Amino acid sequence: MADLLGTTTRNCGALSITFAVLLSGCQVQPSAEPRPKQPNIVLFFVDDLGWQDVSEPFHTERTDWNERYDTPSLERLCREGTKFQHAYAHPVCTPSRVSLMTGMAAARHRVTHWTLNPGEPRDRQRHGMLRPDWNTSGLSNDPATPKAICAETLAQRLQGAGYHTVLVGKAHFGAVGTPGADPRNLGFDVNVAGHAAGAPSSYLAKNSFLRRPDDTLWQPPGLDFYHGSDRFLTDVLTEEAINKADAARSREQPFFLYLAHYAVHTPLDPDERFVEGYRKAGLSEPEARYAAMVRGMDHSLGRVLDWLDTRGIADDTIVVFTSDNGGLSASSRGGVKHQHNSPLKSGKGSGYEGGVRVPFAIRWPDHIAKDQSNALPVQLEDLMPTLCDLANVNPQCPDGRSFARTLLGKSQIAHPLFFHHPHFWGLTGPGIEPFSAVRHGDLKLIWFYQSARAELYDVVHDVGETKNLTRERPDDARRLRAMLRAHLTECDAQVPTRKDGFPVALP
Ligand code: CA
Repeated sequence: MADLLGTTTRNCGALSITFAVLLSGCQVQPSAEPRPKQPNIVLFFVDDLGWQDVSEPFHTERTDWNERYDTPSLERLCREGTKFQHAYAHPVCTPSRVSLMTGMAAARHRVTHWTLNPGEPRDRQRHGMLRPDWNTSGLSNDPATPKAICAETLAQRLQGAGYHTVLVGKAHFGAVGTPGADPRNLGFDVNVAGHAAGAPSSYLAKNSFLRRPDDTLWQPPGLDFYHGSDRFLTDVLTEEAINKADAARSREQPFFLYLAHYAVHTPLDPDERFVEGYRKAGLSEPEARYAAMVRGMDHSLGRVLDWLDTRGIADDTIVVFTSDNGGLSASSRGGVKHQHNSPLKSGKGSGYEGGVRVPFAIRWPDHIAKDQSNALPVQLEDLMPTLCDLANVNPQCPDGRSFARTLLGKSQIAHPLFFHHPHFWGLTGPGIEPFSAVRHGDLKLIWFYQSARAELYDVVHDVGETKNLTRERPDDARRLRAMLRAHLTECDAQVPTRKDGFPVALP
């Protein structure tokens, strides 16, 4: 399959010389003795939580959505830490998770869409366009895994620096049957409920987390103890996370807890602890269930914060809260499609802000400012170098940039953020089509491959992307297009091809 440099597929099964640099990270040797003052790290990662799906405003003003949802624990985290109003993920699950774990741009790791079975691309071919030959097996620790990216992970880096590493919840790093399907191959000492699938068949323990008996591909593993009980998956994962983190405390090592909830991804099952209140408030059944899942997720955050207090380790622990893509709005929800993230345009899967802008907050008492908002644009791949920086661990990674300086109250120049999702998702809507994009300063340029069109927005003063500035500011459009194209070329990015044999137009 052709790509920007006209070379063939680059993956762990077909090494290029330049790529060997990245692969050197795959075999991680324990490097240093644990440092006495290394902070614990809790990365509280929510699935499909939109920028407006919380009661804490991330916009410049409160919205009706902020009134609808109840997330008091996130509000507490923001009062005790710093929130970022311009934080970004990628538009769907696996690309975000691989970028988070490796510090790599999506264009470089080529896990540009969501994964499930190896060799079975989940993206569609539409409108005379053929899919790029992307890494459908996801992330792996084995260079021999076909169609996978092999690179050092954040968990491996921390493990090598003396951390005890725990994953609880959704993994979704690698395809079924590949090494990356098991988080223990990616640097986690402990894995609870993480595997290849990116959603639970059901959130209800009474159904053994199964919607149908034959749906075991999507059944969160290792939770048999809870089967048949009245528990909701979010609650079960919280209990497991606290138990595992509690056990970690006795190891005299700092711990890294990656609590990656399956919530608030579909299916929208009713969390009976919270759903009735939202029904009584007049929400439609799907919206009441969604709001209850958000509330249950926040309740989990509250339990984790309370546990840190109870154990007296809150001051020694960095807590990060964020989401892996924008809120789902193209299906399954009540109300008007593509409006659930307003004032942002569109939702999950889109190149517009509704698809990629996410809530983000971080707390580290006595180190990171309390009750602050920060407007620095940051992205999931920046987390690996940032957390390593804060933990005195080697922060180097292929693409992400540490924003530890900002967190510690020093000045920092914004760097460009890049997005690359050259796919048709199963669902459709505004901006849900093959695209690449760059955010730099106040501006964001999106390149849509199907129609070979650029759109330029000032996403600071026009957060809803209502006014395309390409004609009004042609120099800026040219500059950002060149910047985007240089990034894609440098990453050796793969792009869709045209069925009729004509080359696809590039930014
Ligand atoms: Ca997701």
